[in-house]
Amino acid sequence: MSLAALPKVELHLHLEGAAPPGFIRGMAAEKRIDISGIFAEDGSYHVEDFDHFIQVYEAACTVLQSPEDFRRLTLAVLEQSAKHGVIYSETFLSPDFCGGGDVAAWRDYLAAIEEAAAEAEREFGITLRGIVTCIRHNGPDQAKRAALCAAETMGEFLTGFGMAGAEMVGRPRDFAWSFDAAREAGLRLTCHAGEWGGPDMVADTLRDLRVERIGHGIAAIRDEDLMLRLAGEGVVLEVCPGSNVALGAALSLETHPIADLREAGVPVTVSTDDPPFFHTDMTREFEGLARVFGWGETDFAELTRTALDAAFCDADTRARIAKKLEAAP
Ligand SMILES: [Zn+2]
Repeated sequence: MSLAALPKVELHLHLEGAAPPGFIRGMAAEKRIDISGIFAEDGSYHVEDFDHFIQVYEAACTVLQSPEDFRRLTLAVLEQSAKHGVIYSETFLSPDFCGGGDVAAWRDYLAAIEEAAAEAEREFGITLRGIVTCIRHNGPDQAKRAALCAAETMGEFLTGFGMAGAEMVGRPRDFAWSFDAAREAGLRLTCHAGEWGGPDMVADTLRDLRVERIGHGIAAIRDEDLMLRLAGEGVVLEVCPGSNVALGAALSLETHPIADLREAGVPVTVSTDDPPFFHTDMTREFEGLARVFGWGETDFAELTRTALDAAFCDADTRARIAKKLEAAP
């Protein structure tokens, strides 16, 4: 079976970050917004480094202004994911981009996103669940608003809470109130850490925010005790190799720690993060891992099973996706 057709589970995908550049360009034209500066000559997003990436990302988001825009975005993103064999996906959603953190506005955006998810499930056979993420560089007060949005709307679709954004802004404990509120509401928790920060950032995140998954977490490779802990406690890393290489968090795929982390017993999964910004997709991620580390179908099946076990969905959904994985040729 080709790696593209292999059924996949993806846990770390930012909805706006997955927006195809053509979709964003089209929407900018409809609304007469000039964001031509964020595109390269070939029509792709032009990204230089992490700080520039945040600027380009936020500029792209300025064209997404209504629930209907997000309905269309969700459909476009899921169509792309399904093309690469993804049958279950979790996406980060930010109330900061969907109504500015106002709960009533957020409900409308979320309803539109859920409507698109249901349509994509029928059309493309892909299941989506949502994780509200606060944005670290927008500060703890805005994070509280995101957590309240999440707590008010949790359910079958909206199942998790997390934090993205610039990792080196503040410390994890600054956001403990939001994570506590989300946990008390029954949401599952993940947080970006150890992409730019060191192993201490991962350890502080586990201690202060009590999350069960870590976004990226690749800095754990620099601390043997932390790796032992992640392996022992089954803390799953949402590893995004293509993103790490594109932004320079890893020098190359050849020197990326994913294989060593896995070797050490740390549960790793593979995701694309913000695929068009980093010129990647799930097929390319798998192809790279096959090429550089010699991973084959057994390795990818284990990776996918780890991801499904760590998915923030209910038991019925997990069982349904497991059946689909088993039924794959
Ligand atoms: Zn991310």
